[in-house]
Amino acid sequence: LIQLYMPLNILGFAYREIKQGLTDTEEMFALLGEPQEVADAPDAVPLAAGPGELVFEDVRFGYRPDREILKGVSFRVPPGRTLAIVGPTGAGKSTISRLLFRFYDATSGQIMVDGQPVRTVTQDSLRAAIGVVPQDTVLFNDTIRYNIAYGRPGATDAEVVRAATLAQVHDFVLRLPDGYRTMVGERGLKLSGGEKQRVAIARTILKDPRILILDEATSALDTRTEQEIQAALRQISAERTTLVIAHRLSTVVDADEIIVLQDGRIAERGDHSALIARDGLYAEMWRRQSEAVAMAEAAAAAQAAA
Ligand code: ADP
Repeated sequence: LIQLYMPLNILGFAYREIKQGLTDTEEMFALLGEPQEVADAPDAVPLAAGPGELVFEDVRFGYRPDREILKGVSFRVPPGRTLAIVGPTGAGKSTISRLLFRFYDATSGQIMVDGQPVRTVTQDSLRAAIGVVPQDTVLFNDTIRYNIAYGRPGATDAEVVRAATLAQVHDFVLRLPDGYRTMVGERGLKLSGGEKQRVAIARTILKDPRILILDEATSALDTRTEQEIQAALRQISAERTTLVIAHRLSTVVDADEIIVLQDGRIAERGDHSALIARDGLYAEMWRRQSEAVAMAEAAAAAQAAA
């Protein structure tokens, strides 16, 4: 058992080291063994400028030929609008964002950004047009300024401060021992999950992508952190086409459209009030989460009173 355990442990360590040093989702996918089977078409052109309309048209996909994960998914997100994707673990929510990034090609159907099929454009231009605020942000072992400016190499101090302010992380940075020059990451100051997420938001504000993917954290944050992050997210998603991969329903209430994905198919769609009125899957998920929140609050209140 020891023999089996040791290498796994070392592997785990190496994985954490690699993960720690990388911020770029693309590099991370590459290093963690996601197949880089997708190549630019020989006649690929850069994605042309546009307002950020996103279309999925009857998209089917499986990681393996014998197991289809997305079984005909269609939606349209008009420029500047927000679509939230909810549904049980394993339903295929993250797969949708991986296909949009073109880490994989759909088996059939079409994915289009501003009317241009993602298969026909260069991957560099596609990925430059999409910003991701991931669940778990990885910081470079470098200054906090570097970590924010990574969104736009060559950004000026004023631009970095503006982005940090919009992301509600500027005041926090000013309280650090060396301000924007404070070293962060594994070998520097360790930031909390909420602080790291706001750094990721500042980075994305600098990147200024036409499409935004918010992969919401599964883990619960405390209420104040949660509110600060929500405020920061509202800043970047306003006026920008946004896809929210939602694990908690509290953040999808304001989405223009919500799709409930179940086993690779859209089981329900509509806005929050329409889905509540429908009294189906979404309404059931909503009831369960509301009860869980109420119970957690009651427990916290009881603890505070004791
Ligand atoms: P969700 O985000 O809704 O939890 P995912 O899109 O991550 O779901 O995963 C959908 C299904 O695809 C799951 O059954 C998962 O196990 C499978 N899957 C995800 N990534 C891979 C992969 N790289 N190779 C094979 N199967 C995968």
